[in-house]
Amino acid sequence: MPSITPAFPGGTILGYPRIGRRRELKRAVEAHWAGRTTAAELDETLTALRLATVRRLVALGLDPADGSVPSSFSPYDHVLDAAVLLGVEPADGYFAAARGDATRPPLEMTKWFDTNYHYLVPEIGPDTPITYADDAPVRWFAEAARPADGGTPVVTRPVVVGPVTFLLLATAAAGAPDGFRPLDRLDDAVAAYGQLLAALGAAGAPWVQLDEPALVADTVTAGLAPGELAAAVRRTYTALTGVPGRPSILVAAPYGDLRTGRDDLLAVLAATDVEALAVDLVRGAPADAPVAGLETKTLVAGLVDGHNVWRADLAARLDQAAALGARTGAGAVTVATSTSLLHVPHDVADETWDGTDGRDPRLAGWLAFADQKVAEVVTLARGLRDGADAVADRLAAASAALADRATAAGVVVPQVRARAAALDDADATRAPYAERAAAQAARLGLPPLPTTTIGSFPQTPQIRAARASWAQGTTTDAAYADAMRAEVAHVIALQEELGLDVLVHGEPERNDMVQYFAEQLDGFAVTAGGWVQSYGSRCVRPPILWGDVSRPAPMTVAWTRYAQSLTSRPVKGMLTGPVTILAWSFVRDDLPVADVASQVALALRDEVADLEAAGTAVVQVDEPALRELLPLRTADQPAYLAWSVRSFRVATGGAAPDVQVHTHLCYSDFGDVIDAIDGLDADVTSLEAARSRMEIVPQLQQAGYARGIGPGVWDIHSPRVPTTEALTELLTLAAGAVDPALVWANPDCGLKTRGYEETTASLRHLVAAARAVRATL
Ligand code: GLN
Ligand code: ZN
Repeated sequence: MPSITPAFPGGTILGYPRIGRRRELKRAVEAHWAGRTTAAELDETLTALRLATVRRLVALGLDPADGSVPSSFSPYDHVLDAAVLLGVEPADGYFAAARGDATRPPLEMTKWFDTNYHYLVPEIGPDTPITYADDAPVRWFAEAARPADGGTPVVTRPVVVGPVTFLLLATAAAGAPDGFRPLDRLDDAVAAYGQLLAALGAAGAPWVQLDEPALVADTVTAGLAPGELAAAVRRTYTALTGVPGRPSILVAAPYGDLRTGRDDLLAVLAATDVEALAVDLVRGAPADAPVAGLETKTLVAGLVDGHNVWRADLAARLDQAAALGARTGAGAVTVATSTSLLHVPHDVADETWDGTDGRDPRLAGWLAFADQKVAEVVTLARGLRDGADAVADRLAAASAALADRATAAGVVVPQVRARAAALDDADATRAPYAERAAAQAARLGLPPLPTTTIGSFPQTPQIRAARASWAQGTTTDAAYADAMRAEVAHVIALQEELGLDVLVHGEPERNDMVQYFAEQLDGFAVTAGGWVQSYGSRCVRPPILWGDVSRPAPMTVAWTRYAQSLTSRPVKGMLTGPVTILAWSFVRDDLPVADVASQVALALRDEVADLEAAGTAVVQVDEPALRELLPLRTADQPAYLAWSVRSFRVATGGAAPDVQVHTHLCYSDFGDVIDAIDGLDADVTSLEAARSRMEIVPQLQQAGYARGIGPGVWDIHSPRVPTTEALTELLTLAAGAVDPALVWANPDCGLKTRGYEETTASLRHLVAAARAVRATL
């Protein structure tokens, strides 16, 4: 293979978790928000965290001197960082932009590609200032390269969202003229990025990484004219490569395939003068013939899955890497993760694996979290450079782990496979809606604009403390159950006092809407410390779905039955849907995900049957993640929508006509799944709608949806209490857009992150607003 200049590092990762091994970021920013630390103290903690992170990566085997170590930190969100970099948001209002304050609402938040990470959506108009306004990437480079603490210097590779992706993810600011698109500001953005590159070059950075995942996502680029995306990419990288004194540029395209959109963007990028291209070879396929221009570049092969937790088949990946140069015509090849490691926990070794806490010790050998993935990259890079023999022991260990996993008990359970294989259309079909609606109206007798909530009530410090001491064994099962029952009783009494129509039990017993079920289903494992950033300071611990899934016993029935025993109003049974359970878990990679979904759906179907038998009249099956898993390429979407909708229908398809099935979806941006929402055939659908001022209501109606709809009128992501007037206005909007008999009044989402004071006040306003609008019908 010819050697090209400049040489790219021998192996790298596209990014690393930012939250900290012990969630130091969460603790630091939350202490600051609570007023317990000054900005300077926060700064100091975050600097220490950044230094610890890059040093850890060096300890794991990345080269400290050549830009192998990414500088991929963010205090809250990397898209917000880019907005601050460009002066679109002021640096001194950073957390206010993220969370809102007395002077402004927060930026809208939405899912980052097909992941469960949420970014803040920048707002850009024709007059929004776009200049090089913040030098954080330069400062973070300098602090690691010339550390003030006298520690080992690390020459990092600053990672910044690329200009094309940044603008494509932004939304037109309020008041922008019709037809304006943030991408119209490309030249301004490119000029500002050019200044950043010059400053990084002056600071001594050998490399910079510009992340351009939008280039693999039709979900983001579908509105562009043919050829427009290719032209934008060409223009951007022609301009940026012309910046004097710049670092070498790595353009990274994680999460999909650069070549399968309307334009072959691998070819477009290869024709520019960028020095390296990172492609996702877990999701995409490599080019099958030499690509013009690639001969002068390094192909950074994303062969280690950054998005899942399974140990890689290193021998196979090394063969793949070794063939890439000839196959693609790349001047050089190196190995990387397919995406940032943002999506996986830090370290398998942070868990205990002695079996004492119910975690199957066999899993330890099957898994690779962030640190293990760094080691995998280091091994592959070394194997590529020195030959497979140099890493033979590591390749063999990986192969042995995979073989162990393939044959382990519980991975294939014949009864589970047989039941899923026997599913047919009748299992996924309920009685016609008209029949159901009549039966439900007769059974429930609800007023127009019925009020309800999405499920969870505030998870108070007392609830969390009770759960923690129960987990530690200091609280007995009975005492914990008593405490949770007391909480349910309190939540029921509060809802009766507030005058809500359809009640919930409040979900106090649930640590998380997915983990709670994963803990009770066979085929799942949960971790104690496998935290992954969801947004800002919020972290989740995705369960690990490793085997065939089944339900050994009812999971929710006792709680719902108890709550119902306290009130004559209907209490909703509350389940998490199959797609969301999969989306928020790490899913096995050895069985088609559609088959996994059927297994989960059958387990939930049994739960619905048990709830029904216990007298539950309303069952809600949440699918907030339906949109999240939507494939980024249009061509892949129909198959996904088919299996995801079907799995929901299998889960709910056994419910009697007089059982009202609700579903709940959030994170807006429903455009691509409108038909699927209708396809779920739920009797009532509640959705996030407050921030977009109910626009989903007419959209759903135009798509032919004609069942119950609960557009969230209270944006629960903000601590602000909405006024009765504001809620009335939104409800009036909704009731004016469709048959008002179909409209429900509810918040945007569950209330577990809110406090009681704001919850009580907001729900009081919500009930008042519903009554006010009811009176006008
Ligand atoms: N029922 C869940 C809750 O209220 C739904 C949460 C969600 O949509 N993310 O917490
Ligand atoms: Zn929600």
